[in-house]
Amino acid sequence: MIERILITGGAGFIGSHLAERLLDSGRQVAILDNLSTGRFENIEHLVGRPGFSFAIASITDTPVLDRLASESQAIVHLAASVGVRLVVEQPVQTIETNIMGAEAVLKAAARYRARVLIASTSEVYGKGVRVPFREDDDVVLGPTSRNRWAYAASKMVDEFLGLAYFHKYGLPVVIARLFNTVGPRQVGRYGMVVPRFVGQALAGEPITVYGDGSQSRCFCDVSDTVRALEALLDHEEAPGKVFNVGSTEEISILDLARRVKAMLNSDSPIQFIPYERAYAPGFEDMQRRVPDTTRIQTLTGWRPLLRLNEILQRVADWQRNS
Ligand code: UDP
Repeated sequence: MIERILITGGAGFIGSHLAERLLDSGRQVAILDNLSTGRFENIEHLVGRPGFSFAIASITDTPVLDRLASESQAIVHLAASVGVRLVVEQPVQTIETNIMGAEAVLKAAARYRARVLIASTSEVYGKGVRVPFREDDDVVLGPTSRNRWAYAASKMVDEFLGLAYFHKYGLPVVIARLFNTVGPRQVGRYGMVVPRFVGQALAGEPITVYGDGSQSRCFCDVSDTVRALEALLDHEEAPGKVFNVGSTEEISILDLARRVKAMLNSDSPIQFIPYERAYAPGFEDMQRRVPDTTRIQTLTGWRPLLRLNEILQRVADWQRNS
């Protein structure tokens, strides 16, 4: 078993859940996070647990990263600019953080032969229309004049680089393409739809559906996502491959709004907001996004356990109590 793991971006939503899970399975976990979108509150409860440590520093702080890498058998690279809103508003930061971050992690891992798991994203499928998406499908991105695609392109570079380190230097690198992950500790500030809808419904404010709401997504609970990451980290045959990680329970955004409203007995009206007002003029959304999860299921037996209603309930419970 891999016993010492470094999680970059470990104070973020997914990273903090992963840290907890890995500590629960008896491993040592170090976190590196610059708290740009991560929050110390996410990991505060882990401080003092045997085997847990953290460093508040940037991924490009080479001496810190090098020291942590030298003490780790594996690195899970979650530090990235995430969320469509952040990406549209901060394109320079997105591109630089995502590309330079992965490069720094791979270089450090290569020095100590640490295993690497790079968290990528379903955004890389871009405007692909052949649903469900399979790992070896072609990707279809929009033009460089549209900021949104910078996110997909930057994460694609991370994937290319990771796979290149595997092929060229034999570094064990695994790529996980995460589809919409939701759960406790995810905040709506960066645009994510589930925490936003739940927050709006609880506050009795309008539930903001962008476009006509016919676009669909599959939402995976973070507890399922981190189980998948752990399984991929441990599996000897995972390196050199790309894996989709997500739920296949598809729902349109309008139905999601209706479901959240009904479930929480909310009086909130459902309000339609044109994309150009929600994001920026010329914004292109993805109409459908569904993963084919055959590859990870076949290799590790993983499949998501939580259904959407339970997932929404967990998010609502967390928001009520925080
Ligand atoms: N969305 C919405 N209202 C919101 C936030 C998001 O209708 O307040 C839509 C968004 O346009 C997209 C979907 O919900 O079609 C999922 O958005 P999110 O940012 O959560 O993830 P994405 O799938 O875009 O990465």
